[in-house]
Amino acid sequence: MIDYIIVGLGLSGVSFCQKLKQNQKAFVVIDHGQQSASRVGSGLFNPIALKRTKPAWKGHQLMTAAIPFYKALEIDLGIQCVHDAPILKIMQQTADINGWHSASAIADCKSYINHDIVQNTNPVITAPLGFGVVKNTGWVDTALLVERYSLLLESKNNLIKTVFDSNALQITENGVRYGKIEAKHIVFTQGVGLISNPRFSFIPLQKTKGELMVIKCENLQEKSIIHGGVFMIPLGNNRYRVGSTYNWRDQGEGPTTSARISLQTKLNKIVSTSYQILDQSAGFRPTTPDRRPVIGVHPKFPQLAICNGMGSRGVLQAPFCAGLLYDHIENGTPIPQETNINRFKH
Ligand SMILES: Cc1cc2nc3c(=O)[nH]c(=O)nc-3n(C[C@H](O)[C@H](O)[C@H](O)COP(=O)(O)OP(=O)(O)OC[C@H]3O[C@@H](n4cnc5c(N)ncnc54)[C@H](O)[C@@H]3O)c2cc1C
Repeated sequence: MIDYIIVGLGLSGVSFCQKLKQNQKAFVVIDHGQQSASRVGSGLFNPIALKRTKPAWKGHQLMTAAIPFYKALEIDLGIQCVHDAPILKIMQQTADINGWHSASAIADCKSYINHDIVQNTNPVITAPLGFGVVKNTGWVDTALLVERYSLLLESKNNLIKTVFDSNALQITENGVRYGKIEAKHIVFTQGVGLISNPRFSFIPLQKTKGELMVIKCENLQEKSIIHGGVFMIPLGNNRYRVGSTYNWRDQGEGPTTSARISLQTKLNKIVSTSYQILDQSAGFRPTTPDRRPVIGVHPKFPQLAICNGMGSRGVLQAPFCAGLLYDHIENGTPIPQETNINRFKH
């Protein structure tokens, strides 16, 4: 009997597997790689909620856990996936500047927000009132990370690339059985795939569609992440990721013309030079109604657990949440109520 079966290998699955590895637990992962938010998302990490210029939920605490986690994974996988870059938020009006100054005095913002507004020196970016600067931020190449992690697991025969069939799961006295695999626990890190998992149908998980474009723009020559209605993230070789949209109604897969137009309209307000669209992609963020992760064991079958609801902040939240779940299963450490599965009625 092994210790764990993990279903789903996105940021949540990778984070949980790392906890298992650190604790010498035997595990196998089942993943089909489709509808994976981690293979689509922008991977930004930023502890500040930029819309209202205030600390994001547990922003600083999550940063201190997540960034060392990804840096250690870079070494394990022999890749560079953490890209540091400041975020420059375009000031649209005087009220934004006043808000920025106030935020820079908040304790949790101090190590990230510069008080002073920086003037724009890029001739093709429209920002007459300048930028507020967020430092110690950047993006994680989550698609590369997940791809290389799955190759590593495959090379060790720890990954089964297939669709997990919920009907084939048997609950046993000491754990679970799935085909020939017997395990003490099964952890579902399925992202939006959880919606079709009958044992967790009481979790009101939603699919929030997000679309992104990759553009090529030789005149832009920008090294910082620009935020002004949309994010524009420098990828190197004159390429930039632009995104992303939020759509709670469109449940269809794949990119849409309406999202492209919306992204272009916003981009054209901040960039005054021509660019070429190289690519457009779409994915679904796994979102809960209260916008918090959902972690814990099944109310009737404690051998079944979930780590989900990472929403639009999977990069920072997944390593922290995987740690909470592991400590809960193995050591009985309580999961804080705001992220606990038991806040949803079974
Ligand atoms: C457009 C977009 C932009 C984003 N930008 C950011 C950002 O800038 N910063 C940030 O922090 N977050 C961002 N996010 C959110 C982030 O990507 C997610 O929160 C995170 O990737 C969720 O990770 P996860 O592992 O929980 O789920 P996923 O990455 O979706 O992984 C779930 C895995 O489970 C597998 N699976 C599901 N069901 C089954 C089954 N039955 N059998 C086998 N396998 C199964 C799937 O194939 C998938 O591989 C963005 C998301 C999108 C869509």
